[in-house]
Amino acid sequence: SFHKSKGQHILKNPLLVDSIVQKAGIKSTDVILEIGPGTGNLTKKLLEAGKSVIAVELDPRMVLELQRRFQGTPLSNRLKVIQGDVLKCDLPYFDICVANIPYQISSPLTFKLLAHRPLFRAAVIMFQREFAMRLVAQPGDSLYCRLSVNTQLLARVSHLLKVGKNNFRPPPKVDSSVVRIEPRGPLAPVNFKEWDGLVRICFNRKNKTIGSIFRQKSVLSILEKNYRTLQALQLTEKAPSDDMEMALDVSTLGDLSMDDDGNDDDDMEMDDGDAKRADFKEKVLAVLKEGKFEEKRSSKLAQADFMHLLSLFNKAGIHFS
Ligand code: SAM
Repeated sequence: SFHKSKGQHILKNPLLVDSIVQKAGIKSTDVILEIGPGTGNLTKKLLEAGKSVIAVELDPRMVLELQRRFQGTPLSNRLKVIQGDVLKCDLPYFDICVANIPYQISSPLTFKLLAHRPLFRAAVIMFQREFAMRLVAQPGDSLYCRLSVNTQLLARVSHLLKVGKNNFRPPPKVDSSVVRIEPRGPLAPVNFKEWDGLVRICFNRKNKTIGSIFRQKSVLSILEKNYRTLQALQLTEKAPSDDMEMALDVSTLGDLSMDDDGNDDDDMEMDDGDAKRADFKEKVLAVLKEGKFEEKRSSKLAQADFMHLLSLFNKAGIHFS
């Protein structure tokens, strides 16, 4: 019997397993990380294709079944099984990750892999179709969102294969897709907390203009608070070494607690008496004007545009974390 809560949907179509392994581009020297090996249908082909497989599996019953399956075969000494939650354990060295994962861990797992060092060559992962389409979405696509922007900041992402529900037992409710994720070598020189702060704000209402997003009272007040705090601390100039330290902290990028298009309606009324506040608003709008961002919409902005917008804000002493 399978555990629904652990996302146990076993791949039952051997041709599909072959196709995933083939498209992964595994070398005979590769150390392969597999997440959620289950009963081992994918594991077997991975062992045949690479040098060794390290498989992380949460369910002790599955771990036993897996060990039993390969016991006494020539493949067994190239398989290492780690029992535990992949989100909680330290990942070992690997060259490539290939996995049919439980969909509920898609986002945290993606960003855990992208934070892993040393860099691996690629991760070839089965995701729920919509999640996969979000990962690869480009500016202008309907599914383009914070997940697309943050993932593509750290990796090249491409869609490999559409997979129907009936390739699994039991079949999940949704269709799936296999995606290839290749971490980028040198990372963009950006503070990821600030980057995500900006991107969250912009995608909270992705179809509004940037001008109207940054006129919201709630947004202005957060930015103004940051601004005043930094001024008070005389920390408006961040040391470059600070950014380097931030560089590996991508932990918040995949946190989906705040959905795109979530509405937090607030009016744009200003307290006319508060000259300081009005000045700050002018400062923000001047930045948008300088970069010609006022009439643009997040749904159409590319990574380079967000980078440009962030640098203009920072130049004006306005920060997002
Ligand atoms: N790879 C197998 C296949 O394709 O037939 C099984 C895939 S099934 C979708 C997901 C597997 O991940 C299950 O065996 C489940 O027990 C395991 N799993 C669930 N949550 C996990 C976690 N947090 N860490 C590691 N494994 C997990």
